[in-house]
Amino acid sequence: MATEEEKSTQDNRPLNFVEQIVWDDLQAGKNGGRLNTRFPPEPNGYLHIGHAKAICMDFGVAEKFGGTCNLRFDDTNPVKEDVEYVDAIRDDIHWLGFDWGDREYYASDYFPKLYDLACRLIREGKAYVDDQTSEQIAEQKGTPTEPGKESPYRNRTPEENLDLFQRMNAGEFPDGSRVLRAKIDMASPNMHFRDPIMYRIISTPHHRTGTTWRVYPMYDFAHGQSDYFEGVTHSICTLEFEVHRPLYEYFVKELADESYCPRQIEFNRLNLTYTVMSKRKLLQLVKEGLVAGWDDPRMPTISGLRRRGFTPRSVRNFVDKIGYTKYEALNSIALLEHAVREDLNAVATRVMAVMNPVKVVITNYPEGQVEMVELENNPEDPTTGTHQMPFSRELYIEREDFMENPPKKFFRLAPDGEVRLKGAYIVKCTGVKKDADGNIEEIYCTYDPETRSGLPGSMRKVKGTLHWVSAPHAVDATARLYDRLFSVENPAAETERDFRELLNTDSLKVVEGIKVEPFLAEHGVEAGRPFQFQRIGYFTPDLDSTPQHLIFNRTIALKDSWEKEQKK
Ligand code: ATP
Ligand code: MG
Repeated sequence: MATEEEKSTQDNRPLNFVEQIVWDDLQAGKNGGRLNTRFPPEPNGYLHIGHAKAICMDFGVAEKFGGTCNLRFDDTNPVKEDVEYVDAIRDDIHWLGFDWGDREYYASDYFPKLYDLACRLIREGKAYVDDQTSEQIAEQKGTPTEPGKESPYRNRTPEENLDLFQRMNAGEFPDGSRVLRAKIDMASPNMHFRDPIMYRIISTPHHRTGTTWRVYPMYDFAHGQSDYFEGVTHSICTLEFEVHRPLYEYFVKELADESYCPRQIEFNRLNLTYTVMSKRKLLQLVKEGLVAGWDDPRMPTISGLRRRGFTPRSVRNFVDKIGYTKYEALNSIALLEHAVREDLNAVATRVMAVMNPVKVVITNYPEGQVEMVELENNPEDPTTGTHQMPFSRELYIEREDFMENPPKKFFRLAPDGEVRLKGAYIVKCTGVKKDADGNIEEIYCTYDPETRSGLPGSMRKVKGTLHWVSAPHAVDATARLYDRLFSVENPAAETERDFRELLNTDSLKVVEGIKVEPFLAEHGVEAGRPFQFQRIGYFTPDLDSTPQHLIFNRTIALKDSWEKEQKK
């Protein structure tokens, strides 16, 4: 038996290379033994499941080793940013189960300090104003094997640079006419060192600072310093920033000393099959009305997944399963779906709903009689109890659950055959009524009163069990059946075609007039509550579901393609 102390150190063992680095730094007493991470979203779109991977790391590692995690909005580009996104980001992080307490910060809070630092670097001859266009600057960058060309403005005096920079910020020059660049090395093998841009002019008002500023810092000039100002010890980000790290360190060194210096660590980003993770593309889908909004249940956004009925735990379990490495990978969406099914199986309330109803009349059941049968809310969790459902002479079953001329292994309802109606009785089919075109309008059955659930007669063996609802008590509802957003596995890799052409045109099917049990009249408005429509799949009430018009989103069908993939 492990002692309590051993157990707690076991829980705290590093599980991946990032945690290992953090752990080692803590053991070595770096930064006075402090641990402070941050999650730094740019409020230019809603968070997606890739961000969830970053959130689980940033908040998770802090939680695990007794540190704190800041939420910092990286709001350095007023052209693309909006408060709508700020609010959505907050909601999504909370939904995932993380909290930043009072540590909510904005890169824009540091604009004064960053501006002062820029002025200092100018005075020290480490930065200059370049009057060239961004195209000219890009042309002079060189290639990784060829050095770049120095700007003709590179050797302006500090006085002139300072004057120009101040006038840039005073609004004297139009957007794009001048930039402030760091004077580092146009021949550096690291392209990011070739006099990177520190500031650009933007005249669009900022959602927090209004028109106070006309110059805005670039990511590379803002991020490391913001980390430093906040006391962040471990700045964890994705692999594409690895090449930026020397520059991160270059600027941070202008501020930091021996006693404290933030450290950047990179891990592989999450990429998922059959979807895209680029905020730019997701924004395009929203703007062009190709989806119903950022929280369209087909979107890989956290708000979309939530509306679709995914649980926070399933998202976190999925992130745990894929792990953190130094290698880019494409993760199977089937693994995410598997994690969702696993969690929903544990938490979903079992109910009956008939998607494609056909009427069944129990001819030997007294007209007008109603009895209540008891259904388990969740056989996986007996503490969730039961609920009652009415049984009567007229019921609905799925049209597909009846066949007039069934093949051999059809274990559902057929003429002269018997099935069990889940939770109620065994019934036998005695005939059908058809319309003029030969379509079945009604199915006639008799029931065996001895076989009611709970009575000894219910032990009788029959092959099939069907779900059903009582016709006079059933409630009409709409079901929205979602499928994958894209029809190809890796849309980002299809560079020949516009990504919008790769959308799955069958990603949403709306089924009107499904019949649900009366229990859902009451609970079918609880958006996000997980239900299992027995034998059909997992569903949750949509945000727009009302007592007058119940709407259910299919979270996921019952069958699991990931398990099948694994068994192959
Ligand atoms: P943009 O192109 O707008 O910069 P972004 O996806 O990088 O988009 P940010 O808001 O800058 O968005 O991201 C915030 C944090 O989330 C960053 O630390 C980033 O590394 C991380 N992140 C973004 N996408 C993913 C992903 N697919 N997997 C893991 N982490 C991600
Ligand atoms: Mg980014």
